[in-house]
Amino acid sequence: MPSPAATRLTIDLDALAHNFHVLRAHAPGAEAAPVVKADGYGLGAGPVARRLWAEGARSFFVARLQEGEALRAALGPERAATILVLDGLTAGAGARLAQARLTPVLAGLPQVQAAAALAAAAGAPMACALHIDTGMNRSGLTAVETHALVQGRDLLRHLDVHLVMSHLGSAPTPSDQRNGAQLERFGPLRALFPESRASLAASAGIFLGEAYRFEQVRPGISLYGGGPEETPDPRLKAVAKLEAPILDIRNLAAGEMVGYGSAVVVERPTRLAIVGAGYADGVVRAGRRGGYAWLRGRRPLVIVTMDLIAIDLGDAPAGVGEMVELLGPNALLDDQAAAAGTVAHECLVRLGGRAERVYIGEI
Ligand SMILES: *Cc1c(COP(=O)(O)O)cnc(C)c1O
Repeated sequence: MPSPAATRLTIDLDALAHNFHVLRAHAPGAEAAPVVKADGYGLGAGPVARRLWAEGARSFFVARLQEGEALRAALGPERAATILVLDGLTAGAGARLAQARLTPVLAGLPQVQAAAALAAAAGAPMACALHIDTGMNRSGLTAVETHALVQGRDLLRHLDVHLVMSHLGSAPTPSDQRNGAQLERFGPLRALFPESRASLAASAGIFLGEAYRFEQVRPGISLYGGGPEETPDPRLKAVAKLEAPILDIRNLAAGEMVGYGSAVVVERPTRLAIVGAGYADGVVRAGRRGGYAWLRGRRPLVIVTMDLIAIDLGDAPAGVGEMVELLGPNALLDDQAAAAGTVAHECLVRLGGRAERVYIGEI
């Protein structure tokens, strides 16, 4: 039972399912493999993955070994998903990856060598994915290393490469020529692995066109409602809704100040609502410039502190105890992220542990 007037994070898994089907419909013929790293972008990898499994997802990506282990436990023996770990085969991780039946995404040549050595010792090929760098310079084998790997064959015969993948650095900007350049580099490299499936697109890449979709797409942020171009996208629904109660309403005269260090001086008589949320609930201080709350319309944020926010009510009717939306279907994720000078990914993972959590549509 939600407590009355508590700061509340509602996670709408029906909206998540809607977004999953929208993304799948934009990538016909490709498998949509949800990315649930960072605890499902802060929204709960277990509930998110269980619901997406029910919607038909069979492969999931996490970043860390520990996330993979936790996800395997959360999915349980009845959901035999493929769980891919983007960190790959980190030092000493081999036994734990095998134990939890996790598929490492080998992220560089040293990892490929370590995987081949482990598999040789075990006498059985290791199932893995291979990350190839096509220009982002963050993870993956270089083109030269990839060609050498294929020509050498002595490492590859110990590996069962199910998937070759790469990651786009500029996909939220469709006109950016680096997208096409990465696609052109990926084509011939993926062709070196004719038996393996290929994957290039994350959320934004799905919308770049058919050529980017290959056999698998890896949506993350857009599952959770973030627009592929980092602006609100009406095709997607908000999954996270953060609401907090009005604790007090204060009337300030022109020239009075609000907050630490007189952070803000109001220029005109102002009705402020003091709302029970702050940094600890994931509201970002920088968001006060341009960020807003929703209460029968947009109400500008005036100050943000650790536990309390002040919003400018204007002449809106409002009462103590009433709930204000700080993120959700009206206080849009991409708007709030832009106001805070960041991206939706960061806003979501900051939502943190304090707000009471309520799941809608949980399985
Ligand atoms: C995080 C990540 C994704 C998902 O990205 P979104 O922008 O959240 O859709 C896909 N692939 C890789 C390699 C990632 O690191």
